[in-house]
Parts: sequence; structure tokens; C-alpha cells
Amino acid sequence: MFKKETKVQRITTMAESVELPSRLAILPFRNKVLLPGAIIRIRCTSPSSVKLVEQELWQREEKGLIGILPVRDAAEIKPLGPVVSQGTDSVDQSAKVLGGSSDSHKLETKKPNDVVHWHSRGVAARALHLSRGVEKPSGRVTYIVVLEGLCRFSVQELSTRGTYHTARISSLEMTKTEMEQVEQDPDFIMLSRQFKATAMELISALELKQKTGGRTKVLLDTVPVHKLADIFVASFEISFEEQLSMLDSVDPKVRLSKATELVDRHLQSIRVAEKISQKVEGQLSKSQKEFLLRQQMRAIKEELGDNDDDEDDLVALERKMQGAGMPQNIWKHAHRELRRLKKMQPQQPGYTSSRVYLELLADLPWQRASEELELDLRAARKRLDSDHYGLAKVKQRIIEYLAVRKLKPDARGPVLCFVGPPGVGKTSLASSIAAALGRKFVRISLGGVKDEADIRGHRRTYVGSMPGRLIDGLKRVAVCNPVMLLDEVDKTGSDVRGDPASALLEVLDPEQNKTFNDHYLNVPFDLSKVIFVATANRMQPIPPPLLDRMEVIELPGYTPEEKLQIAMHHLIPRVLDQHGLSSEFLQVPEEMVKLVIQRYTREAGVRNLERNLAALARAAAVKVAEQEQVVPLNKGMRGLATPLMENRLADSTEVEMEVIPMGVNSREISNTFKIASPLIVDEAMLEKVLGPPRFDDREAADRVSTPGVSVGLVWTSFGGEVQFVEATAMAGKGELHLTGQLGDVIKESAQIALTWVRARATDFGLATADGINLLEGRDVHVHFPAGAVPKDGPSAGVTLVTALVSLFSKKRVRSDTAMTGEMTLRGLVLPVGGVKDKVLAAHRHGIKRVILPERNLKDLVEVPSSVLANMEILIAKRMEDVLDNAFEGGCPWRQHSKL
Ligand code: ADP
Repeated sequence: MFKKETKVQRITTMAESVELPSRLAILPFRNKVLLPGAIIRIRCTSPSSVKLVEQELWQREEKGLIGILPVRDAAEIKPLGPVVSQGTDSVDQSAKVLGGSSDSHKLETKKPNDVVHWHSRGVAARALHLSRGVEKPSGRVTYIVVLEGLCRFSVQELSTRGTYHTARISSLEMTKTEMEQVEQDPDFIMLSRQFKATAMELISALELKQKTGGRTKVLLDTVPVHKLADIFVASFEISFEEQLSMLDSVDPKVRLSKATELVDRHLQSIRVAEKISQKVEGQLSKSQKEFLLRQQMRAIKEELGDNDDDEDDLVALERKMQGAGMPQNIWKHAHRELRRLKKMQPQQPGYTSSRVYLELLADLPWQRASEELELDLRAARKRLDSDHYGLAKVKQRIIEYLAVRKLKPDARGPVLCFVGPPGVGKTSLASSIAAALGRKFVRISLGGVKDEADIRGHRRTYVGSMPGRLIDGLKRVAVCNPVMLLDEVDKTGSDVRGDPASALLEVLDPEQNKTFNDHYLNVPFDLSKVIFVATANRMQPIPPPLLDRMEVIELPGYTPEEKLQIAMHHLIPRVLDQHGLSSEFLQVPEEMVKLVIQRYTREAGVRNLERNLAALARAAAVKVAEQEQVVPLNKGMRGLATPLMENRLADSTEVEMEVIPMGVNSREISNTFKIASPLIVDEAMLEKVLGPPRFDDREAADRVSTPGVSVGLVWTSFGGEVQFVEATAMAGKGELHLTGQLGDVIKESAQIALTWVRARATDFGLATADGINLLEGRDVHVHFPAGAVPKDGPSAGVTLVTALVSLFSKKRVRSDTAMTGEMTLRGLVLPVGGVKDKVLAAHRHGIKRVILPERNLKDLVEVPSSVLANMEILIAKRMEDVLDNAFEGGCPWRQHSKL
């Protein structure tokens, strides 16, 4: 049995003419062709092939020849007839059943009638090398033979000799003369040139690929071209069919053209393979390059401690989420989202939003709480007292609230709601509560919130969705039990975008706020540990259901005396501290504070007062800073400062900065440098810093200097205010014109007022001395100055009537008298709200007399006695009482009617 082991391409050295015997021992090659010029190494192990080699090659003295004949399996034969290449003799029919001599080619028939087809042409071959071996332990003999193909032959007759085949053959090679003739043939010349060119290309391509030397090229010049054709074709893999057809190409021209075709095909296939491998290499190297660069980048980042890598980020995020203390069900939800995120590419849409969402979940204080101190009521009271002047009732209520919390920490007490004008201390009271409880404080501004989503958040399906303000506040404060101030609950309004107040209801309802549902968060958050405190400027706009959940504590505003105290004890020390000053630098005498209150502020709270004091402090700071620069030139100073500086500079070239604690900053400086004297604020400084006085008591007198103007008292979100009402008449059709951004209620009041005056005028037979009825053929125009400020409410009723009466009677209203009260069509004066604020406002304006509805008398208890002491309160039951008090010498009409 023999097996093909290697195929060696080699320059053939065979003689020009080969002595070919007429009979040759035949070694069958299964599905394989040995072409002339090719060299092959085979291993013979089957008994028949071993016998053949032994007898025909091994035992001969001179190297003999054998014939190599291709055979083909029956299975490979096409259905139609026996295999014989075109133009060849068919092999003897009897020979077809002679297979089975060589197991290496699997010729042994497995079934008796298995047919093996012998090709009719073969190649004579000689052994270049022989080696014999004995297999152990069987003792079987094997041969390894290196064969060289020499020339083509055709089989005349095939027969068996012992165990192997022999054949009668005839050579198919041309004689020398025949060959010379062919070589003259122009077709042959062209074909051979073509072949050589293609062969040259192939050699170059192979050399390029394998970087081999130019040895192969030598072949082209030394070996006859018809032989070269065989050698080249034998050097690469082609199909058995093609090998057979090559073998059958006896005509050198046919052989050359076939070989050219095959070589060219091989060349193309090499080129395509090259191209593909180049492409693949390119791709590979690109991704490999990227990978390498990324690895390097990671290493650099690690080295820098700059781990903002996305993967690292996600790991950090997961760790943060694990530490957030989420409830089990929420953790599951979050983890699901995280898994989704991990599968996403950072560039993918939704990646960022998902990440921001998870960051929020991880940041929220699910369990983190500030440790609640054992509540010390006495300390709490002390704190409230030290932070705020006055407000005794408010403080008492806060202490009560805290006491209940102390006894029953989980008590569902009402939500405190501080109602009052700006700057009366609502926010600072709430933060004092937080400080007393040892909790963190967070302020959520609800002013102008019209969209429910501001409180509940937007669903995550919307672009740019965000959590609501509550969740955002909790994220900021980072504990789940802060004191949360819902600032300006009265400023929320509802419109098409939902009703924020209803969302607030859920927040404040202890039954519901355990599972507050923010649309963005989409999982419930427990708000029950939060202490809510609300503020509002006015009670009236707060929706009743919301008001129902809250306990309203009113802070009506301060009297000038209270403001003075607040300024002296709280505002000035704080303002000085904020500006790095102390009383050694700046002193604001009480008198000057009073002037600031009177001339520069006219407000219920102390915000503007604080602002003005801050302006004084800034001016003083500039002066002090300027003085400081002058100080080192001072004689007394030099002794202190210079040696210090010199020592420092002598010791080392580096100058150390001396750290002076903030609190002692100013005192130390003044102690060291002893500024001559503190700056004391005087009137001149007030004018210089704050400008000319903005308010004075003469305003009312100036305004009411003509008939048709009256002084009313109204209530705004800034507290009580003085409101002038101007009326004028002109020729017309008896219409009423109203201006000054008035609401429906106030317009109706004006209508009522005019009707009442008209009715009375007729009653009293009002007419001018020259007999013209003032009310006939006249339009009346009523204006409420400060035209840009919206006004509404019924309390201007009496003021409107007074203005009209003044207009028609041409009598001036008393400039020291202000009034408030609603009037019915019949002239009854009804009580109004905000009396304390209004009286205080009148006081601020320097008004000495206030006309109030009789039923508002009880409200005067709230007005500080210091204010009441300087004021005359006049009670009105009917409109006539008001008019009696508003004019010098009583109601002008009554006088008239008396006439
Ligand atoms: P609001 O919230 O009512 O608008 P703030 O609480 O912001 O007012 O108060 C404005 C400033 O006035 C704060 O600096 C506050 O400390 C100060 N203030 C208000 N009332 C008092 C008071 N009774 N005692 C001391 N300071 C006060």
C-alpha cells in the first residue's frame, strides 16, 4: 500500500529522449495524475504495490521504469458510460474489472461487482530514490519511493502479472524533429510567449508573497516550454478532471493553451486571496489599534486617578444605589433599570436619561435622616427669643407645637402656616423651628407655580422631564426628615396644566404622603417624616381644602417701635457682622434708625429696613478699608507693625500669612490699630448714602389739597397700605369711568357709591347755588392711583363715597383722616378685614385719624397700644358717620340740608 506524502516541484533533469519499453508494470493512482516533470513521494504498503516495487525497481540493477495510470472510482463516474478522455482509446473492457490491486487507492473491491475505471493514458516514471522498511512486530515490508514523471504513454492492453498489473504501451511523446517542426509554428510561438508571460506573472506574485529569490525564473529560460507547461500545472492544486485533461493534452499547442489558462486562473485566485487578506488585515488592525488605544487610555486614566470611564461610572453608580437604602421593591425596580442601562451604548438615545434617573434614585434619602435631638423646650424658646424680637403669640404657638411633638413624635399635628406680609420673619421662624428640632431645613418656593408637574414632576417619557420640586428639595437636603418650608402657598394658581394645590393636598395629608408619587420618580416616596411648614402673604387665595389642613398663624407686620427694636437688637448686629464690621467701626444711633424707618421705608416687615442698614454698612466698610491703608503711616502704628514685618522678612524669604479668624477680624484690627473713633451715622450720612428721603408725612396733605380726593386704607400682599381715591366730573351722559386696574368687586363698590350719592343728592335736593344740578349731564371718573397695581375688594366703599361727596360739594377731605369699610346700597357700613395692618399703615403714613366700621372695633386689640396712643379711631355705623368725620366741620351735605 502506498500513500502520497509530499509533492515536490523540481526542475526536471530527464534526458531529451527516454527509452520507453513496450511493456510496463502499472501502478494505479487513484483520483490522481502524475504529470511529466513532476516529482512525487509515495509509500507502498499493499502487497501488490510492494511486490511491484520490489520486482520492478528494488531488485533491478539499473533503475527501471514503471507506468503510473490514473484510476477512478465507479462512484465518480458520470452516469453515461466508461471514462475515457476525448480522443483516447478506451481501455479494454476486461481491464475494467481488474481493480483491487492497490489498497492505497482503495482499488480492492468491497463488493465483487464494484467497477474500477482505468484511464487509457498514463505517465512513465522512474524512481529517483528508494528505501525499504520492515514494520514491527508484523514484519511487513514497505517501500518509500520518490518518482519522477517522464513522458506520456497510451495503454494498448492491460493484463495482470502475479499480484500486479502490466500494460502494453506506446509512447505519446514527439520525436525531436517533430518537436522542432512544432516550434516553428507561429501559433505555438505565440502560445508559448503567452504562457511564459503568465508564468512570469505567477512567479512574481509568488515571490512577492513568499519573498523567495529569483531561482524559479531560471526555469523559464532553460526548460522547453511544452515541458514547463506540465511542471507549472503540477505545482498547484487542480481538480482530478483538469489533471486528466492535462494528461490527455498530447498536442503541445493544446497543452500550452490549457496550461496558460490554468496558470492564469491560479494567478487570479492568488490575487483575490491577497486582496481579501489585505482587507481583513486592514480591518483587524483598525479594531486592534482601537482596542490597544483604549487599553492605553484606561491605563493613563487609572494612573491619573481619573476614573470617569463609563464602565467604572456604572460600577460606582451601582455601589451608590446599593448604599442608598432603598426599600426592597424600589431596589428591584432600580436594578432592572440598571441592567437595561448596562446593555446600552453611551451614545444610544435614552442612555443619559436613564442614568440621570438612576442617579436621582441613588441620591434620594430613602432612609438617611438627621438624628433628632432630644427636644429641649427651654432651649427652643431661648433660640426663638434670640432670633426674633416680639412675636410673643407666634413664639408661644410654636412652643406648643414643639411640645406636642416632644410628647408624641409621630403625632399628626396640623401644618403650621405663617401668613403675613414680606419681611416679617416667616422664613426665619421656620428655620428656627428646624434648628430647635435639630433638623435640616429646606425651602421650596411655590410662588408662581401653575403647573402640577412642578410639584409632581414630569413623566419620564417627556423630553427634558424632571422630578418635582419636593423630590428635588429632598435630594438637595439629603435627609428624609427635614423641616420643609413650602414658601408662598397662596401664590400657586391652577390652570389648564393642572392644579398644584391638589398635589399639595396629597403632600400635606398624613394619610397619603407615606406614598407620595412623583411622576418622574414613578415609585412612591415616603414623605411622612418631613415636617412641613408653609408661608403665605394672604390667606384668602389659599384653596379652602388646603387651608383646612393648616393652622394659620398670622404675622401682621411691625409697628415702628417694634421695627426699631428689631433693628437695634437683630438687624444691625447681623448686618455689621456680614460686612466684617463691629460697633467699634460703625454706630447707628436709635434716632437715625427711626429716621430710616420713617423716611426710607414704608413697609409692614423689615426687609427694606435691613437693606438700608446694609447700605450704610457698605459705605462704612469702604471708609474703614480706606482708613486701614492710612494706618501704617500713623506714628503709633509704626512701632508695632514695622519690627514684625522686618523680622519676618529677615527670617526667611517666604512670608507667612497670619490667619485671623473671621469673627475676631474686625476687633483685632481695631485693637491693634486703634482707629481714632467709630463712624457714627448722622442725617448727612443718611442722605449721602440712602439719597433724599423717599417718604414723608406731608404726602396725604398734598394729595387731598383739592376736593374729590379721599384717603382709604387697603390691604395688599405687602400688608396694609394707604390708598388715595381721586374723582372728577365732566360734561357727559352721566356715565361712570373707572381706572387703576380694578377688580370686579371694587368696580361694583364704585357703582354703589355713585348710586348712593345720587340718591342722597336728590334727597337733599343737592344743587348749586345757581340752580344747576351737579349730577345731571355729567360723567364721573374715579381713579385709583398707582395705576399699575391691581386692586380689588369691597373695603374701598366708604372711601369712594367720600371722594364723590368731596367732589360734588367742592369741599376738601381732611388730610389727617383715613378710612376703610364696605358700604351697602342703603348706606350701612360693614366690617372689613386686615384692620391691624391698615391701622399700622395709616400710622406709617403719619395719619392721625382713622375711620373704622363699628364692628371692627374688636380688632383694635391687636393693634399695639403705642400706635393707638398716637391715633384717633372714629367709629362709623352708617355712611353719614363717615362723612361727618371725614370733613372739617362734619358732612357738607348735612350742613347744606340744614340750610
Ligand atoms: P418673610 O419670610 O416673612 O418674608 P424673612 O423671614 O425672610 O421674612 O425675614 C426678613 C428678615 O427680617 C430676616 O433677616 C429676619 O431675620 C428679619 N426679621 C423679621 N422679623 C424679625 C423679628 N421679629 N426679629 C428679628 N429679626 C426679624
